[in-house]
Amino acid sequence: MAKEGKKSSTLDEVIKELYLCNKCGFCQTACKVYKTDLNESFSARGRVQLIKGVAEGRLPVDEGFRDAVNSCLLCQECAVACPSGVKPHELVLAARRYMQQTEGLPLDKKIILGTLADPFRRKVAFSTARFLRNNVSNRIEGFNELKGIDVRGMPIDKVGFIDQVPELNKAQASKGRVGFFVGCFINHSLAKTGHAIVKVLNKNAIDVVVPKKQLCCGTPQNAYGDFELAKKNARKNIRLFKDLDAVVTGCGSCGAMLKKEYLHLFADEPEFLPEVEAFAQKIFDFSAYVMHEIKLDPEKFKVFNHKVTYHDGCHMARGLKITKEPREILKSIPRIEYVELREADRCCGAAGLFQSYFYEIAKDISRQKVQNIENTGADIIVTGCPACVHRIQGSLRLAGKEQKVVHLADLLAEAYQ
Ligand code: SF4
Ligand code: SF4
Repeated sequence: MAKEGKKSSTLDEVIKELYLCNKCGFCQTACKVYKTDLNESFSARGRVQLIKGVAEGRLPVDEGFRDAVNSCLLCQECAVACPSGVKPHELVLAARRYMQQTEGLPLDKKIILGTLADPFRRKVAFSTARFLRNNVSNRIEGFNELKGIDVRGMPIDKVGFIDQVPELNKAQASKGRVGFFVGCFINHSLAKTGHAIVKVLNKNAIDVVVPKKQLCCGTPQNAYGDFELAKKNARKNIRLFKDLDAVVTGCGSCGAMLKKEYLHLFADEPEFLPEVEAFAQKIFDFSAYVMHEIKLDPEKFKVFNHKVTYHDGCHMARGLKITKEPREILKSIPRIEYVELREADRCCGAAGLFQSYFYEIAKDISRQKVQNIENTGADIIVTGCPACVHRIQGSLRLAGKEQKVVHLADLLAEAYQ
């Protein structure tokens, strides 16, 4: 329960940054949640002030505080807008960690985060979800969505990608070798994207190693304050990919976690930090690897008569700062008509568990994304984040639209046919 008056080390660590906020409000226009809900507590500035109040012991951790802190998308838009260098999303993470440490996670979150972190429990959960979708929700007439999530259209693979491929996927006349960090979404519901990534790399003479024992990157646990669980998985992942010089991911959130957040997780372990830094340096998003390390030959692509636009996932654009690579790759495909999407780097409304806990706000945010997509006239929407593929494709389908949402690797693999 509330820890009124009690300072935590987690909030003490960010107290200096909390005082940097001068309440100017420049971040308000950047915060999608605030712009949708118009509630000061659900804005970047409001969250920072509430966290400061708790850190100083003036305010309790109550329902209002929990909602304010949990309703953040962690999209990082506010940090870009802030002239004082405040990173409200990092303060939100510190507050979530504080809540986890002082009062524990609510049971539902504890179960979800624990399930995602454990490969066996995760496999059972996805198989159960697949069974329920096929045998229950798809048979109920009129049942189309659950809290704005397209449960009917959600792809869930019968066998996970990691179990579909060998550990070593050899290319002909190979010139190099990379590890592939698959991530939960590609593993369980976008296996086709996993195959596309292997295909594009193999086509370019790169062997792909898919370590069977890889674990969830830790993004969901980190996002809700369970640093210890995130760290446990992170340590194993770092050791598992130790012998590989480069590791490719097909997910902006996994990529940002592996490349940036692992450094924060282990900041208090100086003896392990050099290993974490070496690991971070060899992480590549698929688009960055393809663009800078392979240098694709567009002459090998078939002509692709489609009007295409690109959506940047939050962690891809602001976490990894990758925006140019996917666009340049798309524009290199013969005859593709590329059109820019308005607010391309604005959150699609998914944001992990946000979409199920704050679903009315999530639906509004997704509606804006659908409208912007409609305005482009594109028939294919490309992104580099599997969670965005699901959210945008689901929102389009629920709105009765026909456009297809694909991962960049899916499109490239098709262009090679
Ligand atoms: S990270 Fe996004 S949702 Fe959270 S306060 Fe900043 S702009 Fe708002
Ligand atoms: S977080 Fe930055 S932009 Fe927002 S109110 Fe504080 S100082 Fe201003």
